Amino acid sequence: MPVDVLAISAHPDDVEMTCAGTLVRLKSRGRRFGIVDLTRGELGTRGSDEIRRREAGEAAKILGADFRETLDFGDGRVAGTREQELILIDLIRREKPRLVITSYPEDRHPDHARAGRLVTDSAFYAGLRKVETNHPAHRPQQTIYFSTAYVHDPDFVVDITESMEIRRASIRAYASQFYREGSTEPETVLSQTSFLHAIEARARHFGFLIGVEFGEGFSSKRPPKIDDVVAAFEGFEPGF
Ligand SMILES: [Zn+2]
Repeated sequence: MPVDVLAISAHPDDVEMTCAGTLVRLKSRGRRFGIVDLTRGELGTRGSDEIRRREAGEAAKILGADFRETLDFGDGRVAGTREQELILIDLIRREKPRLVITSYPEDRHPDHARAGRLVTDSAFYAGLRKVETNHPAHRPQQTIYFSTAYVHDPDFVVDITESMEIRRASIRAYASQFYREGSTEPETVLSQTSFLHAIEARARHFGFLIGVEFGEGFSSKRPPKIDDVVAAFEGFEPGF
């Protein structure tokens, strides 16, 4: 059965910190979604391959993903080669998403930036019949982007107030990566309590922009269609 949304990112845990609240919200409205990690995140300082695989599986279960697939494009080596493109093209055709979510093609981490470009290009090529793979051509309606290290002005924000707690739980599933009391693993940027606070603060900031408690911001090359422009701006003033 096709998914409505495919969230594709460089590393297991990128999706949880950036667009998981939106995915959970879509799920609660009957949409199907899948998560694809382009790499196993094997360069991560803490934890191990096996631990990260287990954590990613647990996070997907918490979010209610219809599937999660982890590819092996190589942590620190996402390259956008034709070989990687063809793997992604075939995967997109197999799952037939209407919407693809990926990282903004400009970021501090080259894997995130390259993932953004690779996924954008693959989603387009997936619609060309004469590019042959194991599945027939299918082009998603749109690819949209979340910010990772660098924050980009969002073109729209999704209210994730009702799904924030599930998003937090999915992030906590990566116990080897984030702050945990008594851990003897080496300290990293991600493992400090300040990092989790920053992730939380970003959701609050995006939420503030649309007059709700928590939000997730997205960029899109085309503007989304809005049915009720009055309802779209509800909540800013007054009483906020
Ligand atoms: Zn990442």
